[in-house]
Amino acid sequence: MPQHSFRCLPAVDLVVRDPGLQAIAGLLPRQQVLGWIRAGIDECRQQIVAGREFTNEAAVSYVVKHTLDASHFEMGRRQQSVINATGILLHTNLGRACLAEAAVERMNAAVAYSNVEMNMWTGRRNKRGERVCELLCELTGAEDAVIVNNCAAATMLTLQTVAAGREVVISRGQLVEIGGGYRLPEVFAASGAVMREVGTTNRTYVHDYEGVITDRTAALIRVHRSNFYQGGFVTEPDTAELVQLGAAHNLPVIDDIGSGCMHSLESLGLAEPTIPESVATGAELTLFSGDKLFGGPQAGIIVGKKERIAQLRSSPMARALRIDKVTLAALEATVEIHLSGAAREHLPLLRMMYESVDSIRARCEQVVAGLKCDDRTSVEIVECVSEIGGGSVPGSQVTSCGLAVTAPDPVRFARDLRTADSPVQAVIRDGAVRLDLRTVLPGELQPLVESLNAALQAAQSSGMTS
Ligand SMILES: *Cc1c(COP(=O)(O)O)cnc(C)c1O
Repeated sequence: MPQHSFRCLPAVDLVVRDPGLQAIAGLLPRQQVLGWIRAGIDECRQQIVAGREFTNEAAVSYVVKHTLDASHFEMGRRQQSVINATGILLHTNLGRACLAEAAVERMNAAVAYSNVEMNMWTGRRNKRGERVCELLCELTGAEDAVIVNNCAAATMLTLQTVAAGREVVISRGQLVEIGGGYRLPEVFAASGAVMREVGTTNRTYVHDYEGVITDRTAALIRVHRSNFYQGGFVTEPDTAELVQLGAAHNLPVIDDIGSGCMHSLESLGLAEPTIPESVATGAELTLFSGDKLFGGPQAGIIVGKKERIAQLRSSPMARALRIDKVTLAALEATVEIHLSGAAREHLPLLRMMYESVDSIRARCEQVVAGLKCDDRTSVEIVECVSEIGGGSVPGSQVTSCGLAVTAPDPVRFARDLRTADSPVQAVIRDGAVRLDLRTVLPGELQPLVESLNAALQAAQSSGMTS
């Protein structure tokens, strides 16, 4: 291999100043960009070893392209705000519930010093989260509450504290996997509680539970089927029946309802257990997520009987799993909104769920009026279907209204939307890019118009090429 063929390889300093890199690579840490440039130069060197020839210019553009590809990938996963046009209200990949404005303000107030463990009137210390727990009791009718990082942590803390080394009875139809590594049998194993399965996949009766109760039994658990549904010959006892059985044997019932629904969704045609119902039915502990139908930040909330909650709170695990002050602030504001009785107006999630199709259609028309199409692109207003998603109300469908965009290359169009100045997540269906406006926030309409116009313009100027 002649030595001189490596002379075409550019210096790192030269590549880093390349104008083609400035726009995107300038947004990322310099160390990272330098690493990609070095890796690009190495790759180029290996190609030369393999017999390929480069001019100096070709080597520079090879390394620039390598660095740009890495930068695009990196920018794509850097956390940023996204306009959710998927119509999935609780989109796990897009962070579940949007926080209320008041929750965002309360978070901002908590980021520096804040009275997380102090009463500013008395000047004395108070317990972290005490106020939120009291408000939660008022809201749900429970005697006490404890808050941890998420509902997975709530399940773990509950099983470990109530039942480590003993048995908890569960129906075979409720051994759910939620996603993100949450599989109930594995949560049981990690908690040290012994899972005592009863019944069958589709049918479990009260006498199945009763038949396995011994002095090793610590509790009965009911777990909501959050992300799937069963049809046909399906039977399982409701919470009331389990509570009755538990009372007869002096056993607590743990009710993991998951979604944290506060009010019946019947008017939307959706059946979802509510927190107050679970508490009123007599479950000793009711567990739910803060960022599903509750419409708040990520949190695991346990409400229930005083003695049980006290037992959970004094566990070292409760300390290990506690939520941070900023999240706690957002949760406090969210609970206040629920208590104010104006959740449908102030919680984005509920506002979206209850928005009428006519109102959504009016927003579609507003967007379409701002778009510039040509003979290669078109935008149509179409009826579509939103979903609740995010591990609640499995199979739920709510009629909605959206846009169907046709462009020569829909995959490219969808990527242009995702990487626009205001990133938009849409879906491709039947060859068209579809945007459901139910999940687009009111303040996002103008940015959405701009991102759509940028993608339309790119489609018009590139035609079929991608
Ligand atoms: C979502 C869910 C969980 C997990 O909640 P995270 O807050 O995501 O940890 C646990 N149990 C049920 C029934 C759920 O629906």
